[in-house]
Amino acid sequence: MAKINPFKNAMSQLSAAAEILNLDKSVLEQLKKPQRILSVSIPVKMDNGETKVFEGFRVQYNDARGPFKGGIRYHPQVDMDEIKAFGFWMTIKNGVVGVPFGGGKGGVVVDPKKLSKGELERLSRGYVRSLYKYLGPQVDCPAPDVNTNSEIMGWMVDEYSKLVGKWTPGMITGKPLSMGGSEGREEATGFGGVEILKAVWKEMPARGGSASGGKLKKGATVAIQGFGNVGIFFAQLAQKAGFKVVGVSDSKGGVYNPKGLDIAALESYKKQISSLKGFAGAKEVTNEKLLELAVDILVPAALENQIHGKNARKIKARVIIEMANGPTTPEADVILHKKRVWVIPDVLANSGGVATSYLEWTQNLSGFYWNKQEVLAKLTKYMLAAWKETLDTRNKHKTDFRNAAFIIAINKIAQAMKSRGI
Ligand code: NAD
Repeated sequence: MAKINPFKNAMSQLSAAAEILNLDKSVLEQLKKPQRILSVSIPVKMDNGETKVFEGFRVQYNDARGPFKGGIRYHPQVDMDEIKAFGFWMTIKNGVVGVPFGGGKGGVVVDPKKLSKGELERLSRGYVRSLYKYLGPQVDCPAPDVNTNSEIMGWMVDEYSKLVGKWTPGMITGKPLSMGGSEGREEATGFGGVEILKAVWKEMPARGGSASGGKLKKGATVAIQGFGNVGIFFAQLAQKAGFKVVGVSDSKGGVYNPKGLDIAALESYKKQISSLKGFAGAKEVTNEKLLELAVDILVPAALENQIHGKNARKIKARVIIEMANGPTTPEADVILHKKRVWVIPDVLANSGGVATSYLEWTQNLSGFYWNKQEVLAKLTKYMLAAWKETLDTRNKHKTDFRNAAFIIAINKIAQAMKSRGI
């Protein structure tokens, strides 16, 4: 299948919401373009003595509501259109969840699995050296994304602090606890997603009828695509909340057991052999088939464009909780809306990560730190408030959840632009 351009998808989502809102043309034109695009070449001394030059990006999409904020992705297929789309979605997401940030995103074209630890560290420090003049707690504050983690954030904040000559933990989030990271940040995205799932499930109409389902059906089934940081915590916490996780996949394929998977055992199995395949007591399933399983809830938690015009009709789930960024194309959205599938958009469902990044940033700026219980309680408030506002907006405008979330965010961004005279 030809590569789908995520920035085109993002702009078509923007147009749909702008039309409902009858959005001021000058705001719309500004939201169609990133404020700044940075493209850098990062030379890295490899272990064999040769120098390899990597391509890196940072897109500073919009800072009307506060500093640019968004993760850094390491992936061989990273490209500028993808990073622009993610920067735009971050701008919207921060508006939906109500944290005072703009949006941005970064990336490096690299397969980090092919680098030694030393090479990975030199690349990460090189990324910061190339861009540090454009970063900072009040300017642009990155975070982890696919294939980047707290260790990498630690190297980056150390490099930045050396370059500016002072310890500056608020320049990046998702750091190790020992370097000013926040309690609860590691599980925050999955945790926030499950809080949304629980709230959504309470509102679901009963199958075939219009009456509110009201109560969580015990053992409602869940399939999750992606078993990394987000997918693992989502699986663990959904199971703990009474849902039955029956299917899980990663880049190498998936496993399915209609009676439910033992998530803790699956996690330790994957740690040993770096794959889910061969896990005892479950059938193997391809990534494509995982999306089409007969489950109540589908959770894409891997990469973008996984649910598209060709497979949307085959989806049997009643609810899709988008934990990945951009997993559903606009074409698929139309099909799913007609099928009355509730698509809970990424900009709401996975916003627990950035909401906790905000809590980390405020702790770094104030020097006062909360325990995990306090952080997760604050996070829950953000998630539930964002869900309620999205549900109310969707009912008011008689639209889908994605348009509703975009309307909320665009209104806040437009208001900030107006107040600032942009
Ligand atoms: P990760 O690198 O920890 O995990 C990604 C997982 O997806 C891995 O299990 C990988 O094997 C799997 N995967 C890759 N390609 C796949 C494919 N084609 N089919 C099935 N599985 C595949 O990354 P993550 O941090 O868990 O992020 C996952 C998604 O969630 C991304 O879209 C990311 O942008 C989004 N997200 C992450 C956070 C966060 O806090 N980490 C926050 C918001 C959104």
